[in-house]
Amino acid sequence: MSSFDDEMRYVSRTLQPFGTTIFAQMSAAAAEAKAVNLSQGFPDFDGPQGLRDAAAEAIRRGPNQYAPSIGVPSLRLAIADKMKRFYGVDVDADKEVTVCAGASESLAAAFLGLLNPGDEVILFEPCYDLYPPIISRAGAKAVYVPLQRPGFALDTELLARAVGPRTRAIVVNNPLNPCGKVFSEEELDAIAAVCVRHDIVAVGDEVYEHIVFDGRVHKSLLQVDGLADRCIVVSSTAKTFSMTGWKVGYAVARPPLTKAVRMSHQFLTYCTPGAFQEAMAEAMGSPRSYYDDLAAMYVAKRNFLCKALEELGLEVLWPQGTYYLTVDIGALGFEDDLDFCMQLTQRGGVAAIPESFFWKGRRAGRDLVRFCFCKTDETLDAAVARLESFDWAPKR
Ligand code: PMP
Ligand code: GLN
Repeated sequence: MSSFDDEMRYVSRTLQPFGTTIFAQMSAAAAEAKAVNLSQGFPDFDGPQGLRDAAAEAIRRGPNQYAPSIGVPSLRLAIADKMKRFYGVDVDADKEVTVCAGASESLAAAFLGLLNPGDEVILFEPCYDLYPPIISRAGAKAVYVPLQRPGFALDTELLARAVGPRTRAIVVNNPLNPCGKVFSEEELDAIAAVCVRHDIVAVGDEVYEHIVFDGRVHKSLLQVDGLADRCIVVSSTAKTFSMTGWKVGYAVARPPLTKAVRMSHQFLTYCTPGAFQEAMAEAMGSPRSYYDDLAAMYVAKRNFLCKALEELGLEVLWPQGTYYLTVDIGALGFEDDLDFCMQLTQRGGVAAIPESFFWKGRRAGRDLVRFCFCKTDETLDAAVARLESFDWAPKR
């Protein structure tokens, strides 16, 4: 038996092809090489102190028993209020909001609640690595529509061709991890038109909704004409409040779609820890200035790292949103993006993410590498110092 067969002997056939996520792999490689870790996307600073105090206080005060399955009322109200404040959409906190363990479980609950075996789900490549395995585990099939370089534009012809009689959903990750694209109004309208014409559900992954740059304003799928009654919008407090470890996320959708989310959520985790939810309810009510400051902080970090990489002669694809930037390493002569990332981690002491892992079977993106900039200025300085002394000639 090969070591792969041995390791995978109890793993379901559906999950076997997906292996260990590239995020865990690169963070492990970074730790082993004592590299500055700009790979897996998590801040190396924590969210506001008041938020931490609120959670600690809620734990001390108790109760610490199961929270309501759909989420504590204060957080659901805060989510509905935020949807109104930022997007002008009316959301019923009782019937249309479900709190889950991060955006991850929200997405899993949406897919498992919505999909029947044989259904098809359209994914735009590059796509976040969680969607394909869960869609597959639901017995459905992912159908890929590659976004077109430069700019990762949506080709509406390709989208039209991908739609078939079994298409149940289209996933729209906006802003897009890994390449930082923000979908244009025209693109969102084109997606909506397809959804309406073919009775398809749009699943929005909007976890980076508050990290958009250069005067852009995030548009939620709930605001797009034709989608309000046929979308599930997923988001997370992880990025907005710099608490990725708390895993407080949520799904917002009209009652019939919320029913699909809740049906699976009740059997997945049942609920998310109440103390973290209560604290997040307070945080979410933060004034607009909190959200503006977050975007301003990330635009400064983006500018710093993009410029520093450009000064090193690298070709940088500046992101429109998210806390990731992309470098085109095609001209540097490495075998591919994975080879580059392993050499940079081991020889250069800086870890990044090979972007080909966001395409099915790594069939594209082998010339692209993602660096995250959700790090303190000291960490970013240290990374740049190491990059400045890196020997860019590939080693065989
Ligand atoms: N979707 C995207 C696009 C992400 O980047 C992430 C994680 N960073 C998630 C979902 C998962 O979010 P959470 O940590 O809230 O589960
Ligand atoms: N979303 C994070 C990223 O893109 C990874 C989160 C995880 O490891 N599950 O880097």
